[in-house]
Amino acid sequence: MSQPIRVRFAPSPTGPLHMGGVRTALYNYLFAKKQGGTFILRVEDTDQTRFVPGAEDYIRESLAWCGIAPDEGDAEGGEYGPYKQSERSALYQREVEVLLKNGQAYKAFDTPESMAAKRKEAESVGNVWQYDATTRMSMRNTLSLNASEVAELEQSGQPYTVRFKMPDSPSEVSVHDEIRGEIRVSTHVLDDKVLMKTDGLPTYHLANVVDDHHMAISHVIRGEEWLPSAPLHVLLYKAFQWECPRFAHLPLILKPTGNGKLSKRDGDKGGFPIFPLDWTDPASGTTSSGYREQGYLPEAFLNMLLLLGWSSGDDEELFSLEQAIAAFDLGRVIKSGARFNPDKALWFNEQYLRSGDINRWIEPLRQAAHGQMDGWSEKRCQQVLSMFLERVQFLHEIQQINYLFEGPKAFDEKLIRKKWKPETAGYLTELAMVLDRISPFESAQIESEFKAFLERNELGFGAVLLPFRLVLTGTGGGPSMFDFSEFLGKEETLKRLQAGVTALS
Ligand code: GLU
Repeated sequence: MSQPIRVRFAPSPTGPLHMGGVRTALYNYLFAKKQGGTFILRVEDTDQTRFVPGAEDYIRESLAWCGIAPDEGDAEGGEYGPYKQSERSALYQREVEVLLKNGQAYKAFDTPESMAAKRKEAESVGNVWQYDATTRMSMRNTLSLNASEVAELEQSGQPYTVRFKMPDSPSEVSVHDEIRGEIRVSTHVLDDKVLMKTDGLPTYHLANVVDDHHMAISHVIRGEEWLPSAPLHVLLYKAFQWECPRFAHLPLILKPTGNGKLSKRDGDKGGFPIFPLDWTDPASGTTSSGYREQGYLPEAFLNMLLLLGWSSGDDEELFSLEQAIAAFDLGRVIKSGARFNPDKALWFNEQYLRSGDINRWIEPLRQAAHGQMDGWSEKRCQQVLSMFLERVQFLHEIQQINYLFEGPKAFDEKLIRKKWKPETAGYLTELAMVLDRISPFESAQIESEFKAFLERNELGFGAVLLPFRLVLTGTGGGPSMFDFSEFLGKEETLKRLQAGVTALS
């Protein structure tokens, strides 16, 4: 029987989740769901110095907003918990002992100062120093010191780290990546990485490998920035005599220009969010904007992320989460960086606003209106939606259309100059009489009476329609004036008409 599919999203709560992190979670989720596998949320919080309050909640809230629900995790439970690394210290201790015993790791008593001195010395002659197979015997560790020296240091409570022992003679380590194929690295360029810090807590590398093994992870799907760590991880699996999971490193998300990795600064500069939700940095108090608060729909945000590094192979761009699950495969993830296009994010938002049943926007519309639409009937909200969904990128823009709520206080000057002729007021007054007779006061009727009125008077469409629009809305663009009149109702339409004529004559 083949191994069950188990994948994990393993963020560190060191700040808000970047949209690249959400994409990693999404690809893991899709990969798991397509194959009936399990998607795990593991919090990698061993680095106490970089811990940021609120970051973990933020990560959870972001995933929840997107509809990416973990099957196992701290809140969800599961048989492989705890799902927070800070609660798994005993396991890392136990496993590092195994490596110490079989000679794959060693204790190093060197102080940061002594290592800095070595580095400086090497730099002074143009070399780079690292703690590795060529330098370790000149350092103070359990390989270079004799047993009594080690015993003495241990007894005196000298702090030590545990380092991984790279092979003495250079050899090749090969990483198979599902997206990139075979990657070969010579071990002689790799240093003896710290596995356990002086505080007894594991480093990322140790905790990550130990957990992936103990949580029975079948596929490690993560960002390209972790590719350089993969050879060490492969060697660690070998040292533990564990089977290696399969690796897939996702392409970087690039700036809109294509030059370099997308960063928070690009978002600030370009006026687009790079975080899923608003995030207020607890140290500085500054807030970075999120897709949610900007008015993006989670479906649009996810769809945009889906195509940022993956394509279906044909021209199809719109995918619901279910469709994405059915279509997704690692084989179609691109190798090169994925260039982020903020306009495309807007485009997706428009597509999702305009597709499907408009009734699902009634409640969100009312909410976005901050009380201005309280008491509006469903029909009234539907009318607003069918007039304006085609014209906005975000639902909340509708709430900023003042003429929906009150008659215009000012009128477009340019339009007045162009379209308001000495005879216009007279036409509109006659039109008011025509409108007054219409019953029921509905768009189709209004339109046909309007046209008949033009014909009787041998008037052009623009000569009356634009001034009509001007007095009802104050502006020169917008929805069909017949639909809009129906929405206003006869009384309000005539009131605005009268007021406009008075103001402009
Ligand atoms: N904690 C790492 C991160 O924040 C996880 C890397 C991995 O998935 O192995 O990205």
